[in-house]
Formats: sequence, C-alpha cells, structure tokens
Amino acid sequence: MIPSGKDLLSLDHEYDVIVAGAGPGGLTLSCFLGKRGFRVLLVDPRESMSPLGRGELIQPLGLGILEDLGLLGPLLLQEHVRYDQFHFFGFDRKPLMTSSYQGKGLTYDWALSVEPYLQDSLMWKMLESLPSVTLFPGGRYLSHETRDNGVYVQIEKRGGVQTIQGKVLVGDDGRDSRLRKNLALPGVVKEYKDSYVSWSFEIPENLSLESPASDMSARYYLGPGEIFFLFATSSRKRFFLYMLKDRKIDEFVSRGNSDFLKRVDQCIPGLGDVLISAGFPGVSALKEWVIQKVDLEQWAKDYAVVIGDAAHATNPHVAQGRNQAMEDGRLLASHLETALSNPSTSLLDELRKFENIRITKTKALHHLADEMCFVWNSDNPLIVWGREQVFRGISKTPSLNRKIVRTIAGEDFLPLSLFDRINAFLKGLMQ
Ligand SMILES: Cc1cc2nc3c(=O)[nH]c(=O)nc-3n(C[C@H](O)[C@H](O)[C@H](O)COP(=O)(O)OP(=O)(O)OC[C@H]3O[C@@H](n4cnc5c(N)ncnc54)[C@H](O)[C@@H]3O)c2cc1C
Repeated sequence: MIPSGKDLLSLDHEYDVIVAGAGPGGLTLSCFLGKRGFRVLLVDPRESMSPLGRGELIQPLGLGILEDLGLLGPLLLQEHVRYDQFHFFGFDRKPLMTSSYQGKGLTYDWALSVEPYLQDSLMWKMLESLPSVTLFPGGRYLSHETRDNGVYVQIEKRGGVQTIQGKVLVGDDGRDSRLRKNLALPGVVKEYKDSYVSWSFEIPENLSLESPASDMSARYYLGPGEIFFLFATSSRKRFFLYMLKDRKIDEFVSRGNSDFLKRVDQCIPGLGDVLISAGFPGVSALKEWVIQKVDLEQWAKDYAVVIGDAAHATNPHVAQGRNQAMEDGRLLASHLETALSNPSTSLLDELRKFENIRITKTKALHHLADEMCFVWNSDNPLIVWGREQVFRGISKTPSLNRKIVRTIAGEDFLPLSLFDRINAFLKGLMQ
C-alpha cells in the first residue's frame, strides 16, 4: 500500500459501500463490487502491506476466488510454492499420514503457500485501477449512526474526523473488530489456550536444497503437547510454526535456544544447523501468535455487517481463515449487487440471507477446528496414542482421506463421523 497523501476532506460525502478493513475479506469484496462499478470506500489504518513473518496457505476455495477476479495468474508470477501433498509425522519422525490433493475431484488439486502480503498487494493494485473505488490508507473506522437512508460513518485520520454517508457499512476490521463491538453483536469472543511462535527464513545459497532439512515439502510434526509445521514459500524461503502449549512463552524462552533447536532437529535432522546458518534470532525474538476464536450468532445489524475474522476468527489448524474471509467477500458482493441494483429488493433482507448462509458454514468450521485442537494439541498419552492410530488408519483409507482433503480445501464440508473414526482407529491399530 502506498501512502496516498489523501486527507479526509478529499473524500466524497456518499458511497454505496463503506468497507472498514483491507484484510483479504474487505479486499475481495471491494474488488468484486468495484469491478461491477459500485462506489466503494475502503479504509484501513495500515499505510503499507508488509511480510508477517509467516506464510499462509491459499486453498482451492481461495484459488477459485482469485481466478474469478483474474488475479490467480498474476499471483503465480510472485514467489510461491504449490503443494499437492502434506505430510504428517510424530515427533519421533514416524510417518502418520500423507494427505494428497490429487484425485479428490477438486477444482485445483493443489494449495498455494505464499506470503499473504503478496496477494493483498495485488488486490490493492487492482483496486487502484478501478475508477469507482476510493482507497483510504491511514484511515480508521471510529463509529457510525444508522438513519433511514443508510449509515453515517465517522472516519479518523491523524486526529481529524470526517462523517461519510454510505448505503451499507462492512467491517472487515479483524478479530478485535471495532464495528463488532459498536454493534454489540452476540456470540463468543475468546482466546484459544495454546499459541504459536513463527519465523520466516531464507536458506543461504551455500547450502544444498537436496537434504531433508532443506527440501520444500510441507511437514507437520505432532508430539504429546507439541506441534511443529515447516512450509516453503519459495525454493529457498521457509517458515515454521511451533505451538506453545498453554501459552507458556516464559517457560519456552527460559529453556533456551539449544533446547528448541534440539526439538526441531529431532523432527528433521540437520534443521537446527540450517536455522543457525539462516540467522536464527533466538527463541526470545520469535513472534508469538495468540489465536482468537470469534463465533457470532449475528453478523448484521441494520445497514452494517461484519465479515472475516471480525465474524469468525478460527484456529489455523483448518488453514481456512483467509479463504473463508475471501468467500465472505465474494458472497456479500453478490448479495449487495442484487440489493443495490434492484430498488424493489430489500438491502436488509439480502444482508440477512448472506448472514444465514455464512453463519452455518463458519459454525461448522469452528466445530471442526475445536475438535482438531482437542486432538492435535493434546498431551494426554491416551489421546496421543489414539490419534496416531486414526492418522495411520486414514492414510490407508482413500474415502476418509478424500473427506478430509475436500473439507480442508474449502470445497465441501465432510467431517469424519464417529463410524469413520472407529474405522480409521481399527485400521491404524491393525497396521
Ligand atoms: C499463525 C496463523 C496462521 C494462519 N494460517 C492461515 C492459512 O494458512 N490459511 C488461511 O486461510 N488462514 C490462515 N490464518 C488466518 C488468516 O490470517 C486470517 O483469518 C485472515 O487474515 C483474516 O482476514 P480478514 O479479511 O478478516 O482481515 P484481517 O487479516 O484480520 O485484517 C483486518 C484489517 O482491518 C484493519 N483494521 C483494524 N481496525 C480497523 C478500523 N478501526 N478501521 C478500519 N480498518 C481496521 C487492519 O489494519 C487489517 O488490515 C492464519 C492465522 C494465524 C494467526
């Protein structure tokens, strides 16, 4: 995002849609509406989009949305890695499961691992080229008032405040959403009890990419109360996430660098040395991600609605937050188009329809994410043993593998039934 230098007085007084927050949901919504010629104001306090210190997975659901916008091709010209397989191991390196996207009837039989700002910057660039869209970096949604003819939104920039009128106000303002608080929307907002630390690094040119410590495969390691993921975002760029059980960051830091490097070496021999060569900054410098759960009973009130993490922040185990935020943006754009282009259609009805569809879907994902956290994050030896049998059993049962992959890809929702789990458990046990 390039500082626009625009001040509040340069804004028009009326827009069709005011979007607070340029996360993937707000960007997607603005792109679809802007392409259809609606007058959109997109406001975000950020002045630039920069690397987060981790990559993210764009699932087939998100890839399809990017394709609809004509942005998948341009994104594939940026640094990225395509994954069609994800490998799961125990901390003792014993293989648990390989989950392959191929042959599952998906629109795309791969997911993209990419630094999120690359996608967001492309969307921002598209918006800059759309004449009906006004971008307002450095601006922040403060509050709003509903009247018969729409919403009056107070936007702040550098201490100044301006009131702008819109037919609808959309909050894609993240997990701590101000709009959600102002609307007092009912639902659960809480922190998950385990957090993650992450680091992005580049493997130095003098190290070969042939060794298991530096190859590009996507790997998850699950131990008792311990999880380590390692993914690539280019041939030499990698990022990892390491779970902190019960968010015990002080204990993690006090155990020191050598303990952590030993842990990762146990998963991938030689990785500790690769991290050191790449300039490992030490455990105390790793970024901690506290994960929030937002599970609302209502997303829309009058002419305002929340989307993305503001409405349904979930655990990264399902690798869906960005993808579902984009799906919110795409679907909301189509409901708003219906309402804004047909005077006989009620805007409030369209918002309600959107909310109903999306609440059902995201609640199901929350259920899945909570269950995954319970099983994956556990340090209970019985659960750990049981989960290992289930993983192995799934690996040997193509129909179960298919259900999991189609769900994580975002193209279906096919959670495993109790029967599926017992079946997988018994198959794993018999191995
Ligand atoms: C460790 C980790 C790993 C993850 N991995 C994945 C993954 O692999 N795949 C995946 O799909 N998802 C993943 N996610 C989830 C994903 O990052 C989020 O779900 C996604 O970014 C949410 O998008 P959003 O559209 O809600 O906007 P957000 O990304 O939450 O952005 C909100 C925007 O609102 C702006 N804002 C804040 N306040 C205001 C205000 N008052 N006015 C205007 N604007 C405001 C902010 O500046 C920001 O730009 C991961 C999350 C974590 C923590």
